[in-house]
Amino acid sequence: MFPPAFEYAVPQTLNEALAVVAQRGDEARPLAGGQSLIPLLKLRLASPALLVDLGNLSELTYVEENAMWLAVGALVRHSVLGAAQVIRARYPTMAAAAPQIADPLIRNMGTLGGSLAHADPAGDWGSVMLALDAGVVALSRGGERVIPIADFFQGPFTTALDATEVLTQVRVPRPRGRVGGTYLKLERKVGDFATVGVAVQVEMSNGTIGSAGIGLTAVGPQNIKATAAEAVLQGARPTEDVIAEAARLAAAASEPRTDVRGSAEYKRDVVRVFVQRGLRAAIRQAQEVGA
Ligand SMILES: Cc1cc2nc3c(=O)[nH]c(=O)nc-3n(C[C@H](O)[C@H](O)[C@H](O)COP(=O)(O)OP(=O)(O)OC[C@H]3O[C@@H](n4cnc5c(N)ncnc54)[C@H](O)[C@@H]3O)c2cc1C
Repeated sequence: MFPPAFEYAVPQTLNEALAVVAQRGDEARPLAGGQSLIPLLKLRLASPALLVDLGNLSELTYVEENAMWLAVGALVRHSVLGAAQVIRARYPTMAAAAPQIADPLIRNMGTLGGSLAHADPAGDWGSVMLALDAGVVALSRGGERVIPIADFFQGPFTTALDATEVLTQVRVPRPRGRVGGTYLKLERKVGDFATVGVAVQVEMSNGTIGSAGIGLTAVGPQNIKATAAEAVLQGARPTEDVIAEAARLAAAASEPRTDVRGSAEYKRDVVRVFVQRGLRAAIRQAQEVGA
């Protein structure tokens, strides 16, 4: 199908983009990689009056680490994240997730900012960022605010972003200790959205788990942060009992629905098994770092 008619703006700077969205508000929709928005337009599930193409804003295409966090510009593409040396070295959950998103064509076009702003409960980056306690930087002409990722997702395809804001940066806290992490994804075939996905990160400190993050994909109305499971792990020795209890709590936090991909019970048990496997792998990796 053809999309409905729309106006098209191509700002050359972030300031120009902010001016357009400030002026047009709800009528305007930013366009990043187009890998979710263009299909929505073609299916006529979205019909914005104006598309604001962010494609020329090269100022949003950096991956930079400072003493506090990894700063990723909103327009950085999935494939770039998967290849970035700093991510492969210190952000293993991101490194594991990036190559599992869709297929190479989509990974070369889709962006981190677009993925988070789209807020698909089956999107992979949402769970990764929940596990990593990221912050999302939203900029408007009125100023900047940093939204904790746990407050960012507000429901299926709904975020805390205002219509006059552009998502400009994602901030991932820099690991302090020995870090391990992974992303496990069950899909019907390579390149598909997750039937179930689990993002895990742990930081080890003196033989105990200093901190742990767990995010769940496609098992609820939005990406889920498994906070009760994280709490059980924090400060604990990484025993099989502790891992099993965290996995049980994460499964209990999931809200899957029965569909053609499997029953709710099946998906909930996949969460349990993936959290268990993910934690074991992440802990092993963290213990090996610098050993
Ligand atoms: C066949 C197929 C398979 C896919 N499989 C997967 C998968 O396995 N896992 C997965 O996670 N994703 C998957 N995707 C989605 C893909 O990752 C998209 O790239 C991503 O969801 C959206 O990123 P984008 O840059 O393309 O955003 P766009 O499509 O351009 O925009 C998406 C939404 O975000 C808004 N937006 C974009 N950028 C900004 C910004 N900077 N500030 C404010 N709002 C913004 C847009 O207005 C729009 O509402 C798949 C897509 C397709 C078509």
